[in-house]
Amino acid sequence: MTPFKFGNFEFTNLKFADERYSDKAIRIMELLDGHPAIKQFIGDRPCRTTLQLRTTETPADVRDLGKDGVEVNLASYFFEKYDVGQIMGMLGHEIALHPLASRDPKIRHEESFFQGVPLAIPGLENKNSRTMNTEGAGDPEHIMAAFPSGTRHKLYRETVLTAADQLARDAALGVKGAKPADVTSLIDAYLMDVASIAVTNDNRINAAREPGNTAKAYNAYKEQLLENMPAGSPVRAFLPPDKGALGVLRDFTRFAVNISTRNQGDSIQQPARVADPETPIPHLKDRNDVEFPLEPAPPRHDVRLPSATFAASAAGSISSTPRNLDAYQKIEDAPKRQRQIAAIPPLQQIARAASAWDSGHVKQESYAQPVTHAIYAPPRSPRAR
Ligand SMILES: [Zn+2]
Repeated sequence: MTPFKFGNFEFTNLKFADERYSDKAIRIMELLDGHPAIKQFIGDRPCRTTLQLRTTETPADVRDLGKDGVEVNLASYFFEKYDVGQIMGMLGHEIALHPLASRDPKIRHEESFFQGVPLAIPGLENKNSRTMNTEGAGDPEHIMAAFPSGTRHKLYRETVLTAADQLARDAALGVKGAKPADVTSLIDAYLMDVASIAVTNDNRINAAREPGNTAKAYNAYKEQLLENMPAGSPVRAFLPPDKGALGVLRDFTRFAVNISTRNQGDSIQQPARVADPETPIPHLKDRNDVEFPLEPAPPRHDVRLPSATFAASAAGSISSTPRNLDAYQKIEDAPKRQRQIAAIPPLQQIARAASAWDSGHVKQESYAQPVTHAIYAPPRSPRAR
């Protein structure tokens, strides 16, 4: 696999030969590199994003490996089908809500204080029976990220607002690939995230079942966001409109559709095929009876690798199946998984998709590495290295 890098940020297995994907990845890495809090948190460590073929699993997860860097896994359909704003929302969640916030020196004490305490849900305060609580939550960190007075919420919100500011300013300056719609979708992703956490106590299978309450929470979080936004913020002009129940259902339907259609890992780089030196390359004869070696055709974007591999292997031009089979097998499994998904009734499908939304994380113990103020080399032009 050839990684695709910009500064300390990297996509480990992106099919960068496809410009649709390389342009998007460059834009995302530029934004991460230009985000002061994220850049300071990453310091001189690598921050690697790996695309994975996923269906009902969470669309993303994160691991903080201390000095070895931060690793994010992101579903390939999410990278392919959602815009830069929504991907920044997802990465903001993974990086800022989890490891970045966890490094705050006072957060452990603060969060232990709120453990098991029923907390009001913005927008549903008049419904006394409805509260959120770290107990019984899918992930307690998510509850604290949705709790408006909490440090984790504040850090997540500020990370999103800074990214929204970057997006809005870039769009105003006409930066390549920047568009105002990304500001709107970033804020929308953030609001849907905190609203569905709060309403379902982070058991998000229920968010699609309670679209009215999810919409109320969404609009309440939007009010709070406005209160925390400077008067002259360029983001104000691009806030998403208030959401209704139908809008919530539309989001979940879209999510389910994105998982179940054309989810084949198209943006994932195909491992290089290595010819076995011990196996002689068979020769064929052209119509003038001149021999030429049969070599595998270079991979084409629209060719699924397993069939290309199979064809080449059957023709004897490559020795055997390459060792790194992970990505292949996932691609090969895709049609089967999609058939399984297609067999699920629509409402259940939406609910399953909803429950899959970032319901868990692989976590490392938070570590106490001091923030290093690395001196960065001037941005190199993004190229595959
Ligand atoms: Zn999370």
